[in-house]
Amino acid sequence: MQTNPWATALSQLKRAQEVQPISAELAARLEHPDRTVQVSVPVTMDDGSVRVFEGYRVQHNNIRGPYKGGLRYHPHVDMEEVKALAFWMTMKNAVVDVPFGGGKGGIAVNPKELSEAELERMTRELARKLYPVVGPERDVPAPDVNTNAKIMSWFRDEYGKKFREQPSKIRKDEVPDSWLDGVVTGKPVGRGGSEGRTEATGLGGSFVLDEILQKVAKKPQGMTVAIQGFGNVGNYVARYLHTAGFTVVALSDSKGGVYIPSGIPDIGAVSVCKEQSGKLAGCYCIGSVCDIDNMEKLDGQKISADDILKLEVDILVPAALENSITSDIASEIKASIVLEMANGPTTPEADAILRERGVMVIPDILANSGGVAVSYFEWYQNMHDEHWTKEDVYKKLEEKMRAAAGTVFDTAREKGVSLRDAAYAVALQRLARS
Ligand code: NAD
Repeated sequence: MQTNPWATALSQLKRAQEVQPISAELAARLEHPDRTVQVSVPVTMDDGSVRVFEGYRVQHNNIRGPYKGGLRYHPHVDMEEVKALAFWMTMKNAVVDVPFGGGKGGIAVNPKELSEAELERMTRELARKLYPVVGPERDVPAPDVNTNAKIMSWFRDEYGKKFREQPSKIRKDEVPDSWLDGVVTGKPVGRGGSEGRTEATGLGGSFVLDEILQKVAKKPQGMTVAIQGFGNVGNYVARYLHTAGFTVVALSDSKGGVYIPSGIPDIGAVSVCKEQSGKLAGCYCIGSVCDIDNMEKLDGQKISADDILKLEVDILVPAALENSITSDIASEIKASIVLEMANGPTTPEADAILRERGVMVIPDILANSGGVAVSYFEWYQNMHDEHWTKEDVYKKLEEKMRAAAGTVFDTAREKGVSLRDAAYAVALQRLARS
């Protein structure tokens, strides 16, 4: 049975209130999104036919600032999923302490079936449909699954056009382009984007893991890692963990994976191979030559997308989609640490099993908050017409992530609860204060 992500979110909220009681009013606000928007997105396809896609935007809560959260293009997108993802954004933005509320959106579509021109027309139509509810100081989308910097720049461009052409009392000619850039984050550098945004989620996750390992007096050297999902997040987290001295032994995407028990020597080469062949399976690389024939030479093994979760490793990193760790899988996980880079990868039942088994779960709302931290930096630069260097962004990101991880860890120790419960407690305290 597929777990409903919104039911998961509500059950996490309920649990969190046992650790951190909140007023009935705040509970009601968090149990009910401020606004749910569903739009039709008609698109003229390259062959002249017209297809109509369903688009969504959920504005969960804005007590702490403008709604903020990604846009996802995936066939499984529906209102329940978007509500949950928006809720997690409210919590995440409070944990990482950026002045944003929570939002999320998307389109139910398989973007891999669309040409680039169709993808662009669909995105521009979504921007026009969402124009009345988004804006730099209202609701600020960003990339998520199957969306990227190019898609964000189409959205920004269409929003800007609409803004300039709408009749209004405000002097639009006095509104600078940099302010309009603030309508989305994750834009290309040079088109209002921030240095460091693309890799921010993965890099942020590596800082969180490092901070928590320091607290428990462990070092990366000798620790093995398996990563499920090799998109933006999985790819960068793999690179940063490898650089930090962890041994990344396995990677997977939706079609299969690569497993080398002694460690994948070059994540960059695997990434190029996946880009060229469209899949990870078979990307056993020696130098720049990647081929299944290299598997034996590297003492590698074949691995399915499902089996990666059960590998004998120290750290498991789900970086794909929701609900990948179900109760069946939780009892078979060998890792002692789960770094949740995806949003909502663990069902509540699986979470209970992992807690009972003493597996340390570093929760999504902490682990993957580096993306929104740098989104905040990008938005801030747009609002103030500034451009920060990459070194500056990395330094500020590191400070934010280490501070958030430290606070969550200390709260967990103080209250005698899991890191997830502690992260929610920190978020609820900050929301209550606002
Ligand atoms: P993406 O589209 O770039 O990559 C998703 C990856 O997951 C792909 O490699 C896909 O093949 C893989 N995948 C899908 N089903 C799989 C399966 N069953 N087994 C193994 N792999 C599978 O998306 P992304 O931006 O990397 O996002 C991944 C997760 O991280 C999502 O949960 C997203 O919400 C979350 N997240 C993303 C960001 C960000 O900045 N992009 C920030 C915070 C959280």
